[in-house]
Amino acid sequence: MSSAPSAVLEDGHRELVDAFESFIRREVVPLAAELPEAGDLPPDDLRTYVRKRSAALGFYAGDYAEELGGSGMPFSAVVLLHHAAGRSGCVLAPYALAGSDGPSPLLRNGTPEQVERYLLPLVRGEAVRCLALTEPHAGSDAFRLTTTARRDGDSWVISGRKTFVSNADRADFALVVTATDQGAGTTGGATAFVLPMDQPGLRIGQRYEGMSGEPLFELLLDQVRVSTDAVIGGEDGVGAAMALAVDSLSRGRLIVAAMCNGIAEHALRLGVEYAREREAFGNRIGTYQHVQELLVSSRAELEASKLLTLACARLVDDGTEAPENAALAKLTASETAVRVVDRALQVHGATGWVRGHPLEFLYRYVRMMTIIEGTSEVQKVIIARAMGLC
Ligand SMILES: Cc1cc2nc3c(=O)[nH]c(=O)nc-3n(C[C@H](O)[C@H](O)[C@H](O)COP(=O)(O)OP(=O)(O)OC[C@H]3O[C@@H](n4cnc5c(N)ncnc54)[C@H](O)[C@@H]3O)c2cc1C
Repeated sequence: MSSAPSAVLEDGHRELVDAFESFIRREVVPLAAELPEAGDLPPDDLRTYVRKRSAALGFYAGDYAEELGGSGMPFSAVVLLHHAAGRSGCVLAPYALAGSDGPSPLLRNGTPEQVERYLLPLVRGEAVRCLALTEPHAGSDAFRLTTTARRDGDSWVISGRKTFVSNADRADFALVVTATDQGAGTTGGATAFVLPMDQPGLRIGQRYEGMSGEPLFELLLDQVRVSTDAVIGGEDGVGAAMALAVDSLSRGRLIVAAMCNGIAEHALRLGVEYAREREAFGNRIGTYQHVQELLVSSRAELEASKLLTLACARLVDDGTEAPENAALAKLTASETAVRVVDRALQVHGATGWVRGHPLEFLYRYVRMMTIIEGTSEVQKVIIARAMGLC
């Protein structure tokens, strides 16, 4: 057993994490080794294979209830699996776990028909979805929406423009959040719809190339006419999207925090290994205090971040889902991971900067973590509110 303080919070799920790591080592790492170039996102067919295989083994979407096709794992176990995927350093490992294309907590509030048609295939890893919330003028201020759903008799008519949507090119359906126009001049908050990607009037617009090779997409909705069945949660879901989304944010942020901690642990290991071997001025560089400073600071910050994330995940299992806890963990872990990867690259000098080196890829990949699931500044706003400052 590790003597690290954070190991205290890992022990309860040791066997599960060991089984997941063994799956990654035996089945996923060999697939990643065949990729033509280390340093970019793996192709879709490999990601799909890993997702389905992991679902068959019960790891993917493991925290979903058994009657929904999951394994009924505690949330803290899922957080440890995300950490382990990042720590493995294997670019394919994160696809073994449900992420932004997997089952959405929004659909847990779906009607029984929506659960059957959309959520269950997602939990089984057989379908992929995207979430279209962000708009050109509604990012952090996510509910200042101009995409509108207008009630028209028994139908809804949706028009607008969404931006920076992950997975839109390979999704089977989209979860689209709109402002609601109930007619007769009344607006009723935000409403989430589930739309098949081949829905008439819905199309992908611009493609944005991300730093780490991951594309994002614009989604255009031109008079998309759907029946009331498309409202997530049915009639109760009209105007309820904000409450539903806010409910699910804490878990999503803790999962991002765990991914960040895993990435940072991998980067730190690479930095330490290199510092123990590389020589300059007749000594191993790890003996120089300036190099130690980079690695020791990373170790201390990472250990604190892991403890915070794992403690918050435990609290979720114990019934405390405080948004400021998730904000504290996500802020700490994402900012720590960016710093730790940067320092590990610095320890490698030009070797780490060269395209194809794992740290060169991680340096680009980790940068999104302080932006997705609420920027660092938005996490600070949540924490400041909880402190009674605003
Ligand atoms: C890799 C990636 C994947 C994404 N995937 C999706 C997706 O699948 N679906 C989707 O809908 N969106 C997605 N997004 C969009 C993402 O949700 C937004 O980028 C994010 O919410 C921030 O919005 P913005 O980019 O418009 O920045 P803005 O909100 O314009 O913020 C710009 C700057 O102002 C700061 N700021 C804003 N408000 C405040 C405030 N009140 N106090 C202090 N500072 C503030 C921000 O922190 C930031 O530094 C993705 C983004 C990325 C990078």
